[in-house]
Amino acid sequence: MITVKSERELDLMRKAGHIVMLAHERIKEIIAPGVTTNDLNRVAEEVILKNGAVPSFKGVPCPYGGIDFPASICASVNNEVIHGIPNNARLKDGDIVSIDIGAMFQGYHGDAARTYEVGKVSDEARRLIEVTRESFYKGLEMVRENMRIIDISRAIQKYVEKHSFSVVRDFVGHGIGTEMHEEPQIPNFATRERGPRLVKGMTLAIEPMVNQGSWKVKVLKNNWTVVTSDGKLSAHYENTVAVTSNEPEILTR
Ligand code: MG
Repeated sequence: MITVKSERELDLMRKAGHIVMLAHERIKEIIAPGVTTNDLNRVAEEVILKNGAVPSFKGVPCPYGGIDFPASICASVNNEVIHGIPNNARLKDGDIVSIDIGAMFQGYHGDAARTYEVGKVSDEARRLIEVTRESFYKGLEMVRENMRIIDISRAIQKYVEKHSFSVVRDFVGHGIGTEMHEEPQIPNFATRERGPRLVKGMTLAIEPMVNQGSWKVKVLKNNWTVVTSDGKLSAHYENTVAVTSNEPEILTR
């Protein structure tokens, strides 16, 4: 079932989204060579709790039968696509790190991801990050009443492939609200399903995951971390957005 949010609910989602972005801001400030993803997890969790929210990801059951997710952020380094578990390895100059953060405020979730540069990264890595971000905005242009989910998917895929990168097929964006993952699914590529029409009050987490090489991915033995099959880089960009009667609204601001 796709839920349509009232103005009161949207307001709670704006607050959740704002808290997510406060956590991202802190991470952006401190990320550097020598810092660990556990450090990033700690500061993000502090920001979320201090603002009266709860980390959405912590304790989420593993879809592949592993441990519940043990951290408040996902931190995916270089060839890791999503669902990286924070650890004590020090980030190195030239790494790229995708950080996904979810926070629940008074029962409503916000969800946003960014890929950060650690020190000085290669031109190719920077281009991957930029194309990934830009592909989100291409998708966002399609977030209008009466458009369909597939219009978002196509716009993202077209932009990414035009720049000779690939979109991950095995994981997709999603509706969001009182549940972290609600219907509809939002693939970053065209499928045979056109998906539902967009209606004012729908809230969507649009999240292109873009690979430098092949779109193929695999899950590591920890049953969480998704990596590229060819070992090449991957980037992620996500915001929670609301469908309105005209311009879409980004709730993770
Ligand atoms: Mg998401």
